Amino acid sequence: MIERFFTYAAGPFLMTYLVLLLSSSYISQQNLRQASTNSLISNLEKRASVLSYFHSERKNDMRTLAFDHALRDFFVHRNSKTSIEPKQQKNSILIQNTFQEVIDSKRLNNDPIYQRLLFVDPENNIIVDIGESCISPIHWHKLKIPEINKMRFFLFQDHEHTHSILISPYFHDNIRVGSIIAEINHEQVLHFLIRSQSNENTSYTIFIADQKYILHNKDRSREGSFPDLILLKNGPESPVDKASSFIHIPVSGTPFILAAQYNSDSPVNFLATRWYLLSLFVLALLVLYSVAIRVRSRTHTLLLEARLEEADRQRSLLDKKNKLLKSEIKKRLNSEKRLQTLLETIPDLIWLKDPAGAYLSCNHKFERFSGRSEKDIIGRTDYDFLSKELADNFRKKDQVAMNSSELFVSEEIFTFADDHHKELLEVIRTPLCDSAGNLVGVLGIARDITARKQAEEESRYFSIHDPLTGLYNRRVLEERITEELNRAKRYRHQLSVFMVDLDHFKMVNDTYGHQNGDIALCHLAELLERSIRKTDYVARYGGEEFIVVLPETSLTEALDLAERLCKEIKKHKIPITDKKSTHITASIGVACFPEHHHCWQGLIEVADSAMYAAKRAGRNQVKAAPAGTTDESPEQ
Ligand code: GH3
Ligand code: MG
Ligand code: MG
Repeated sequence: MIERFFTYAAGPFLMTYLVLLLSSSYISQQNLRQASTNSLISNLEKRASVLSYFHSERKNDMRTLAFDHALRDFFVHRNSKTSIEPKQQKNSILIQNTFQEVIDSKRLNNDPIYQRLLFVDPENNIIVDIGESCISPIHWHKLKIPEINKMRFFLFQDHEHTHSILISPYFHDNIRVGSIIAEINHEQVLHFLIRSQSNENTSYTIFIADQKYILHNKDRSREGSFPDLILLKNGPESPVDKASSFIHIPVSGTPFILAAQYNSDSPVNFLATRWYLLSLFVLALLVLYSVAIRVRSRTHTLLLEARLEEADRQRSLLDKKNKLLKSEIKKRLNSEKRLQTLLETIPDLIWLKDPAGAYLSCNHKFERFSGRSEKDIIGRTDYDFLSKELADNFRKKDQVAMNSSELFVSEEIFTFADDHHKELLEVIRTPLCDSAGNLVGVLGIARDITARKQAEEESRYFSIHDPLTGLYNRRVLEERITEELNRAKRYRHQLSVFMVDLDHFKMVNDTYGHQNGDIALCHLAELLERSIRKTDYVARYGGEEFIVVLPETSLTEALDLAERLCKEIKKHKIPITDKKSTHITASIGVACFPEHHHCWQGLIEVADSAMYAAKRAGRNQVKAAPAGTTDESPEQ
């Protein structure tokens, strides 16, 4: 957070700080400049008054010269025409002396103020010429002395030097008879003026200018000498023009002005120029640029960081997904392994075929059936390893399942190729469809149902047979006797029933044990089955009670048969153990339809009563109820 603040706020803060600093600096510099300007104005005003005084002194010099006797005498003699040549020559020499005296006496810091003094007539012919000037006489001729009635200062420039000239008209008897021309040593003047600024802190250049020319010190470094004074043309591009934008001080009583310009290396000067603003602007640009660079680099860094973070996030997501995928794959592999194990463990045959009948997969039990490994089975059809007949059969059933779109269940006997054993199998063929409902194959599951079939068979057997003796049980007896009785009634046949009860069987149990009693019961049951006719049947009615149903048998016939049976039982040797055997007798009661009863329950009851009668009579005998012993009508 702090880092971000510095990244984004430091630049603008720095820039604002710099702008404020520079602004305050600029304002203080402006104030300084204003103060400097005020000081300069005051200095220039002082110098202007000094220069004005200097010039007024020069005018006084000229006025003093105008009253000079030699000059006046010269013109008196000249006008009177009485003058003789020697007298004029003498006057001329006197004038020259006077001029020379002025040059010699008027000094500033021991240097002469006047370089040259001239006296010219109105036609500008030189009458007196004292001193030395850089202006060659040739140039003097070019210098047209203006017709003036008052003293005037001029600046003049020849091709090499600048000259400061004072022209004073000379009147005699109120007629202008010539002009005194004084060339002033302006070096002295500038030296004087500039020296007076040397104790100042501010550096600037002073110009003296009139309407046409400028006089200034070009090279200030060489103190005490000013050889490079030049007079420039004043105009829009002149230094004074530039200086004029700064300051102009008129010098009273002269046509000159004083101007000043700060030197370019002055700090005040610099701050006052557009370079300062430009540098400020450049600085601001640099700061902005650095801020922009910083922001850009920071943005770039942030972007990179964001990208790195995003990449990290994506990578961790990928890692998570990868882990999930790996665990999913592991799970699936485990689940596939489990499924495979399951398929191999299942005792059923499992196979998968495509709609054309080619195997797609199968389990180990199927491999045993086909006698081939799965890799030799996949892609092949039943026709490749089964007989054509069996393959046709399988194909037909597969097609039935695929066409019906339902399970197709069948029972088939498969002969296994590995050990040639046979199994009765329940085969379930299930058509398989994809999510769009298109048929993709048929799944076959075949289960060994031999045991189940046996159980079913046993169950069915024991539902009708007595489990100990294997004879019909009481339920079947009731069904069969009802059927036979109905048939007898329908065809007006007779039907007889025996109730057989073993005599003293409890004693057999007691003697040989219950288990041996069971064995004895089984032997007797076999004997009963063997002894009766094929049309008769025998059922176990109770513990050691049996009922024999004899269709189409009259009472007489029945009694005969019962007697024979009774004898058979008696003489039958019943093995109890390997070494022991016994004999058992039975008491038999006989009942006959229609003589004794018309319903089977009644017939059994009658036979039972007759059997008890035989018991009472001493056992091992046959008894029949006398005919008509029942009250029930035949219709009942
Ligand atoms: P009785 O001559 O009066 O008929 O004498 P009994 O001993 O046979 O007497 P009863 O018929 O009333 O008794 C039947 C006996 O038969 C009782 C029982 O010990 C024996 N018994 C009945 N059912 C079975 C059986 O399933 N197995 C064996 N071992 N004995 C049975
Ligand atoms: Mg009994
Ligand atoms: Mg008995």
